[in-house]
This record gives sequence, C-alpha cells and structure tokens, in this order.
Amino acid sequence: MVKTIDGKKVAAEVISECATELAELQARGIKPGLAVVLIGDDPASQVYVSSKVRKCAELGMHSEKIVLSKEATQEEVLKVVERLNHDDLIHGILVQSPPPPQIDEDAIIRAIDPSKDVDGFHPENVAKLALEDPTGFVACTPAGCMRLIEAAGVEANGAEVVVVGRSMIVGKPMALLLMARGADATVTVAHSRTKNLAEVCRRADILVAAVGRPEMITAEFVKDGATVIDVGINRVEDSSKAKGYRLCGDVAFDEVAAKCGQITPVPGGVGPMTIAMLIKNTIKAARLKS
Ligand code: NDP
Repeated sequence: MVKTIDGKKVAAEVISECATELAELQARGIKPGLAVVLIGDDPASQVYVSSKVRKCAELGMHSEKIVLSKEATQEEVLKVVERLNHDDLIHGILVQSPPPPQIDEDAIIRAIDPSKDVDGFHPENVAKLALEDPTGFVACTPAGCMRLIEAAGVEANGAEVVVVGRSMIVGKPMALLLMARGADATVTVAHSRTKNLAEVCRRADILVAAVGRPEMITAEFVKDGATVIDVGINRVEDSSKAKGYRLCGDVAFDEVAAKCGQITPVPGGVGPMTIAMLIKNTIKAARLKS
C-alpha cells in the first residue's frame, strides 16, 4: 500500500529542533531576526509573508514585515535592502517573489548581504551549494525536499533520481543537493525540451516534480514502487469549493499513488517544509554571526 510522506509532521519536527536551538541561543543573549519584504498586494504573497512572520512570532524570534506599494521603484526596494543589510537585529532578509514587473528581481537578490540571504538565492550561496561549502544557505524548498526524502527512510545513495524542472528556486538546487557527496544520487534533470519525458521519468527511483503544471505527472511517468516528491502548488478552478478553486500538485495524486511506493500530498507535503527550512536558515545566519 502506498505511504504518504507527511510534510506537516516532518516540518513540525524541524520546528521543534529550531525551538531547542533558539532556547540555546537565547541563553547566550542572541535573538535571531527575520525581515520579510513584500512589494505590492498579490494575495498569495500576502498569505506567504504573513505565515512566515507569524511563525517567527510563535517561536519568539524577532521579525519585521516591510510592505511597499505595488508602484515601488527599484531604488526604494534597494534602499530597504541596504538598511536591513546594516540592521544588527536582522539576521535573515527575504524579498517575497514575484515582485511587480518594474522590479529587477535578480538585482535585488544580488543586493542582499549573502550572509543574510536566508532564501539561498544570492550567487554567492548558489556557488557555495555547488562547491559543497556548508557555510552557505540552501534554498528552502529543495532543502525541505531533502529532509522529506530522509524522513521517509528512502536511500538516495546510488539511486536514480529524476528532477523535472530546472529553476534556480527548486530544480537546479535540488539536483545539486542530490548529487552532493553524502547524498550520492545519480541525477537527471529534465525540462520542457526533454524528449520522451515519461520514459526518462520512469527510470527514477526518486522522482521530483517541480514543473508548475497541474497534475502533469501521471502514472505512465512513474516506475512501480518509486518515491515521488511533488513540489508543485497549483490553483485549479473548482466550483464545488467555497473559494472557487482547489490546490493541486504537479502530480496526478490518485493514479500515481496507486503505483508508487511513497508520495508527498499537496497540500501537506513539501509546502510546510519551506517555512520550516526558512526558520532553520535564519537561526543558522544568527549562529554564524555570533
Ligand atoms: P518555474 O516556472 O520557474 O520552472 C518550471 C520548470 O519546469 C522549468 O524548468 C520548465 O522548463 C519546466 N517545465 C515546464 N513545462 C514543462 C513540461 N511540459 N515538461 C517538462 N518540463 C517542463 O517554476 P518553479 O521551479 O518556481 O516552481 C515549480 C512548481 O513548484 C510550481 O508549481 C510552484 O508553485 C511550486 N513551488 C512550490 C514551493 C513550495 O513551497 N512547495 C516553492 C517554490 C515553488 P524550461 O526551463 O525548459 O522552461
């Protein structure tokens, strides 16, 4: 019978480790602080930002939410980042993605002090990941996926892994983490130009879907008994729901669950891990500064 990998449970374990670390830091007079910058009024971004700030508050961490209007200029955003770079109460800075179109997101990421880049998107941290330098910050979602694979008791060492998606936020860092020494998987990265995608995916002992296309990964993409990590968070219209939509992943859950060994649900799989790893990165940033 298929086993669901419970992201809420694993995220709660990570948060509980964080609480222990925070108590230890507090005893040394250190209070990790996270600043979250929201530009504009995108409803999904508002929800993400509020839940990040709320989690910090629950854990007794310092947090700051900075909201800029959707007309904010590049200079205004850069000024905020610069202030936060020099604020000793702030150990982690996150600018919620996606910003409005007038904002050059890459330039904003590059302006964040790499030692405060708890999203792990700054080129210096991406390089540290590739170099397997443990002083860097790893992007939260792929770091969370690694933790889920570990918690599920799945052996990455020597396994064939296929990552579908090559974004800088998920696919590429995921592949780097899986191929790193210690994880030791054999990794294939697939994308929109990959030929015979279903056939490539069927090679996978562990299949990671980070595509952004609702339920694209069907049973024919999956080998019997494989572990499936579904990173996708998609809204699809559903008139039977009060909100008029439902959330689903990149994987067609029911048919894939009938075939695979273990699978992450959406919601309740990878999603809760992202905030947990963000908190972990912020604590790490404070620790490295102390
Ligand atoms: P991007 O749009 O940046 O990247 C999508 C990737 O999928 C690209 O590499 C693209 O290929 C590839 N792709 C698109 N269509 C196909 C196709 N038909 N066949 C094969 N590959 C395809 O998305 P993200 O990586 O940012 O996000 C992926 C998903 O994960 C989204 O649903 C997003 O909402 C979710 N997400 C969830 C998070 C969480 O906390 N759980 C956090 C971040 C993202 P190409 O490069 O060739 O265009």
